[in-house]
Amino acid sequence: MQLENYNSASEITVMGVCLVMVVLLLVSFKVRMKTFRIFAVTLGILIFATGADLMLHYLMDKNPDTPRNIIYGLRSLYHVLLFAMLHHFVVYACTATALTREARNPYVTLATALMITFSIADTVAIYTGRSMYIIDGKIAFEGSLIFTIGYGLFVVLIATLLYRVRHRLYRRVMIGFFWVAVISVGMLAVSRIRIQSTFTATTFLFPLIAVMYLMHSNPYDVQLGANDLRGLNNLIRYSDENGKNYLFLSLYMRELDENGKTMSEEMRSLIRHVAETYYRKSVLFQVSNGHMLLMVPKDKNPGYEERTKEILKEFDTEYEKFRYDYKMVIGETTRELSRKNDYIIFIRSIHARIPENTIYRVQADDLNKFRMYEAVLKEVADIAAKKNMEDPRVLVYCQPVYNIRTGKYDTAEALMRLLLEDTGMIFPDLFIPLAEENGYIHALTQIILNKTCTALNNLIAEGYGITRISVNVSAMELREPDFCADIGSIIDKSGLDASRIAIELTESRNDSDFLLMKERIEELKQKGITFYLDDFGTGYSNMERILELPFDIIKFDRSMVIAGGQSKRSEQVLGSLAELFSKLHYSVLYEGVEDEKDENMCRELNASYLQGYKYSKPIPISELRRFLEKAS
Ligand code: C2E
Ligand code: CA
Ligand code: CA
Repeated sequence: MQLENYNSASEITVMGVCLVMVVLLLVSFKVRMKTFRIFAVTLGILIFATGADLMLHYLMDKNPDTPRNIIYGLRSLYHVLLFAMLHHFVVYACTATALTREARNPYVTLATALMITFSIADTVAIYTGRSMYIIDGKIAFEGSLIFTIGYGLFVVLIATLLYRVRHRLYRRVMIGFFWVAVISVGMLAVSRIRIQSTFTATTFLFPLIAVMYLMHSNPYDVQLGANDLRGLNNLIRYSDENGKNYLFLSLYMRELDENGKTMSEEMRSLIRHVAETYYRKSVLFQVSNGHMLLMVPKDKNPGYEERTKEILKEFDTEYEKFRYDYKMVIGETTRELSRKNDYIIFIRSIHARIPENTIYRVQADDLNKFRMYEAVLKEVADIAAKKNMEDPRVLVYCQPVYNIRTGKYDTAEALMRLLLEDTGMIFPDLFIPLAEENGYIHALTQIILNKTCTALNNLIAEGYGITRISVNVSAMELREPDFCADIGSIIDKSGLDASRIAIELTESRNDSDFLLMKERIEELKQKGITFYLDDFGTGYSNMERILELPFDIIKFDRSMVIAGGQSKRSEQVLGSLAELFSKLHYSVLYEGVEDEKDENMCRELNASYLQGYKYSKPIPISELRRFLEKAS
């Protein structure tokens, strides 16, 4: 027989820590999944268990004559609750590691059996005085090992379970659990040796702290309040399981993503404000540096349509200050996307086809378009991965360009098409933005350049009078560290003279891209490559910058040709621009010349080259022979 050595401090601490953990869970982990609820219940049981033991000691302190049965009752309640907590912990581990029903059944059944058996045995031991009795208002132990054995068996069961699921968990998490278990068992041993039942509750707390830290620490940006992608996946899984629907608002700011700029404090506080004030229980996620996603539970926000309108109004007035380009997509979750957790790719597929600074509301047909997008993305990824310079899926079309000085079609523009098994022929308006956004564009460029070189070599060998073919390059490709080397080596390998190849680039708006573009053009011009400024007149044409870049030919966009044909004033503007470029020794090419009227106007306006449907639609490059024969 040994007297209990008790001090309430540790149990009060355990209770306090549990409550703190509950508070932290509630505020930080906004996505209430099933595992979250099970874990919270586990914490709750421990709070009640320590409560029972505290009550027991409190009663004994206050009133040494407290009836024995009440004391025994509280002690067995304490133990039963601790077993219940261990049982719940097993359920938690099975759920958190996503074990199938069949796989988890033996563990849960065993845990239930252990809980019931030892609860009964322990209670019987207590009431029959084999576990403890009361002497002079103090608790004395009678050396029954029932509770310890039960605890030990649970530890073995949980250890076996963790061993079984070890491949499902990140290794470091497993190592974490292992050491926490070692420390807990060590603490329990110490508490038994010193007859300090005080520590019992503490050893139950340790695994819970480990779970909280390892499984539920939910990283989010402290300033923005945004959760990361893992949280989003959890939320979507949860909403799918519970048939909950969400409204989503996505805000994408390309510049923040591409240049790794940090968001300004004003922007941050606007986002925070919108996320916090307009909807109830909405959760903000940060998909990437410049991509925010607000998920709004529809059931908690009956008036969400109105609120959304208010947000857009506020956004409109506030946004002026920030001047980032943006794309906004608003839609609702659907089962079809939830199951595959496709929202981010879905939203990206929409970004790929909407212009900057627009707000887009998802429509029914978007899902079909998305399936198409996905299919194409898969193929493009495959093309990029295989790096086959002859990949048959990449087709080279070309559009001959009329040279006014020579009166011949002696240059052409290469235009890409994809021929895919499932979807047939795909046009650039679909796959170019997709390839750009997902980082595959440079791979495609290399293939089309290679194929263009081969075709051009053949045409020259057969005696056709084609002097040069231009290939389109996307501005973002210039960031590829080996851009110049890649282009140079493809041309060199083909044996073509570099002056036979031209590159078409569009203007870019930001400073770092501008400097990079300048460097790249200068380097490749040294090799003899010609440069075209594409789509002049569509962007924010910055003349000062354009003139700083060593382009050879300026391609006036079809929209300029159209405008010129519509008003005298536009024609004058067009004429002065063309004259300016000519004076500065650029050649002027008009794109989208569709008829005689367009042609006559362009001829008047300093044209050196003409391109458009009037002469030819884009044709497979192999058909260029026939075109040239007919034209001569
Ligand atoms: P772009 O470089 O401005 O190419 C000219 C586009 O205008 C072509 O569309 C062409 O078919 C079309 N076009 C030609 N003449 C006329 C005309 O008289 N009237 C009208 N309305 N349109 C005309 P396409 O082939 O669909 O290409 C669209 C865009 O896709 C291209 O615009 C270019 O930006 C991009 N693209 C095409 N091939 C490539 C490529 O290999 N690499 C990259 N990075 N982009 C490409
Ligand atoms: Ca072009
Ligand atoms: Ca163009």
